[in-house]
Amino acid sequence: KSNMPASKLVLSIDQGTSSTRVILFDAKANVRHIHQIEVEQINQHPGWCQMDPVAIMSSVNACANAITVPEGATVAAVGITNQRETTVVWDKKSGLPLADAVVWLDNRTRETVAKLVGKTPSNNKNHFQRICGLPIATYFSAVKLRWLIDNEPAVQEAHADGRLMFGTVDSWLIYNLTGGVDGGIHVTDVTNASRTMLMNLSTLQWDKEIIEFFGFENVHLPEIKKSSDVFGIIKSGPFAGVPISGCLGDQQAALLGQRCIHPGDLKNTYGTGCFMLFNTGNEAVVPPSEYGLLTTVAYQLPDEPPKYALEGSIAIAGAAVRWLRDNLGIIQNAAEVGELASRVEDTGGVYFVTAFSGLYAPYWRDDARGCIIGLTQYTNKSHICRATLESVCWQTKEIVEMINKSSSTPLKRLKVDGGLTASDLCMQLQADLLGIPVERPSMAETTAFGAAIAAGLGVGAWNRQELFEGDDFGEVKVFESVIEEEERNKRFLLWKKAVEKSFVSA
Ligand code: ADP
Repeated sequence: KSNMPASKLVLSIDQGTSSTRVILFDAKANVRHIHQIEVEQINQHPGWCQMDPVAIMSSVNACANAITVPEGATVAAVGITNQRETTVVWDKKSGLPLADAVVWLDNRTRETVAKLVGKTPSNNKNHFQRICGLPIATYFSAVKLRWLIDNEPAVQEAHADGRLMFGTVDSWLIYNLTGGVDGGIHVTDVTNASRTMLMNLSTLQWDKEIIEFFGFENVHLPEIKKSSDVFGIIKSGPFAGVPISGCLGDQQAALLGQRCIHPGDLKNTYGTGCFMLFNTGNEAVVPPSEYGLLTTVAYQLPDEPPKYALEGSIAIAGAAVRWLRDNLGIIQNAAEVGELASRVEDTGGVYFVTAFSGLYAPYWRDDARGCIIGLTQYTNKSHICRATLESVCWQTKEIVEMINKSSSTPLKRLKVDGGLTASDLCMQLQADLLGIPVERPSMAETTAFGAAIAAGLGVGAWNRQELFEGDDFGEVKVFESVIEEEERNKRFLLWKKAVEKSFVSA
């Protein structure tokens, strides 16, 4: 790639649930260097998922140390994007973690949720939806933080002593990158803060009423900044002196990286989970709570008001493929799921509801559990693989329906990205089951690029025009539906019946 302009590059740190990636980008989204390390998830009990914050930080440092900057180029800024909601607690005195990070899809907090809902005046999980855009659910950071204070002695003690620092993964990384206990800066951005339940969507500040409800008056919360802002300066290592000037939660970063900057723009990211974000511009739309959509901040760039989005969240997507590999052993690697699934014409009537940690949108049922129905003696592993891929596509369809209900114009196409979109078959199934075209860009690292955009704009190294108006960002592959409406509707009804079967407590 020696013919590329050297210019000003941006280093993007993408700290995900499965892995950490550090990527050096130019303003045309060319990947100039990338390094990736898998990070370990610790599953001590069914439904639990935690990660060691020190291991997360080490993976970031190891990736950054492995990056080579091309000769003649300068690294103008660092952008951070991260797994959202995952909750980190550390000690103000020592700068060290007080517990493992509780990962977003961990559902140990079911009882905490029940208690909190019971405490609301209306006994309603949607009591704070108008303020923070979210229901009380196992997914969000405030609920995880409450659990940590109630159940982890070290956290409890630090809380009583006024030493308890809270942050999502972005805050933990920035704190450490800017010096840790030695002057580290405690900040977050509007998108990450909008996933805690603690931020007021209109003021973009911590909400006093919700803080009191959760009992967090004595917790050190990070300062909330725009997504493009100077968060701090890297203190040591190969990028010492470079400003951190971009920060967004991973799904919001993917929206920006797909350049979905206009109201009505939509993207769906198929990673460990699957998340659809629909840009609603300057307006924080709060749809009827039964739609199960979240209202969230999309991003806030320099010199402009915040942009909002509606979100449909699916907890398990690529994680189900990983489960086929690691728990059932019917595939050796992720790519094999598509190969096996393509050996059969259809699922043979099999439906797989991958509700391993409850069902998120639109149901928000933490009692849901995975189920495979429609098995016959004829069923083989290819049918199971195909049903796994279809499961993600059906769940996506349910969310598209809810977004269509919330918006005046029905969706005409779906932009996609993320690990699972590597499967052509999965994308074809998605187009078939939705009945609208599915568009996959050739540039796979949209999440990391979104953080780079925010960082590049944050220090003025890149400009909006070249980022958002250029059309030279590579090829887009389009998948069109090849099945009839009637067939689609018939199978959708069967899918919905299967979902009913996954509810354990009703
Ligand atoms: P995250 O950002 O959540 O860490 P990624 O976007 O990197 O996730 O996607 C990783 C997921 O994609 C894994 O769970 C893996 O099972 C799945 N995956 C990767 N490649 C393929 C493939 N060719 N076919 C199907 N699934 C895949």
